[in-house]
Amino acid sequence: LSKKHSGRDLTIFSEMSALANKHHAVNLAQGFPDNEIDIRLKNFLAQATLENHNQYTPLQGDPLLVENLSIFNKNRKLPILIDKENITIIPGATYGIYCALKTIIDFGDEVIVFEPCYDSYVPSIEMNGGIPVFVQLDNDFELNWDHFENAITEKTKAVIVNSPHNPTGKVWTKESLEKLYSYIKDKDIIVISDEVYDLLIYDDLELMSVFHHPELRKRSICIYSFGKMFHATGWKIGYIFAEEELSMAFRQVHQYMTFCVNSPSQRALAKYLEVFDVVENKRIMQNKRDLFFDLMQETPFIINEKANGSYFQLGKFTNIKPKMTDKEFAIWLTVEKKVALIPTSAFFHNEKNTGTVRFCFAKKEETIIKAVENLRNL
Ligand code: PMP
Ligand code: GLN
Repeated sequence: LSKKHSGRDLTIFSEMSALANKHHAVNLAQGFPDNEIDIRLKNFLAQATLENHNQYTPLQGDPLLVENLSIFNKNRKLPILIDKENITIIPGATYGIYCALKTIIDFGDEVIVFEPCYDSYVPSIEMNGGIPVFVQLDNDFELNWDHFENAITEKTKAVIVNSPHNPTGKVWTKESLEKLYSYIKDKDIIVISDEVYDLLIYDDLELMSVFHHPELRKRSICIYSFGKMFHATGWKIGYIFAEEELSMAFRQVHQYMTFCVNSPSQRALAKYLEVFDVVENKRIMQNKRDLFFDLMQETPFIINEKANGSYFQLGKFTNIKPKMTDKEFAIWLTVEKKVALIPTSAFFHNEKNTGTVRFCFAKKEETIIKAVENLRNL
């Protein structure tokens, strides 16, 4: 077996979902919605296969999906036209991050990650021969730019940023983008921007994509997921934005990793983009966030600042079980109280106990109410 790849544990998401299933617990752990997907999306999928969209698409993706994404982003998301050539359809964001790293780094190159971070970043860097360089976010999960500057070396090839942020729900501002640019503008550093929760930004905050920034976009690969956009995490399809040179480089790798993505699903997503209501989608998720946040005040958890984006909320449990680590607490709660969540230590490479856990609120109202009922008397 490969010395580089074998011996890794199963992800915390596999572990906690399996435990939740075994103990019939409400699963607020792994990030996926428990509602049905839109019937129109199901019908578009059936229609696509009946209409014979069953063979390979071009490398870049189904032309209708590429076209509709370009229009969708201009009208409803980014106030800029995305050139169709800048889009590539991919089999999910996890793949996009891995493939972007494979495109950019050579053995021994350094990639900066801000912790806490999504669990696939570090293994993806390492599996591509890179070295992760860690910058810890501060207690309010803000980035200390001096720490970022200190982490940059001659070997730094890339930095991975993520907004809206998993697990904290923080959202980057225009100033964050300017700051990022000011520190890397004279360096040969590429930005991998994980923006999978781009449509889930609340309270009238504006989406700030790295692709908005006229200079940053020239050196960025931005990564998106239809699984997150359309609440269909099992579809495992996403897309990237990158300007010409980076798009071409990415596709050179992508063509040998998979070549193209499931064809009928791409056509269904293309059709669905024509009818999807971004504002309504956001309103529904914001209501879930507010319901969860308000109900959790009636439990002994100390809930962190309300999430500005994503569908995750952090909370502290240290007053409930002061002696337990976050992992022990998550297991105890799943087995004994039938609510599964994620220990925040899973988002750090060497932190054993954060005293906090992550809840996913992308759930039906009845699921949220049932879960909170179990959390009232701990
Ligand atoms: N990045 C972040 C921050 C995520 O939370 C997820 C969710 N799984 C992904 C990437 C991966 O998305 P996908 O399911 O499209 O691979
Ligand atoms: N992104 C999801 C989360 O953060 C999990 C995805 C996975 O299971 N790998 O919960």
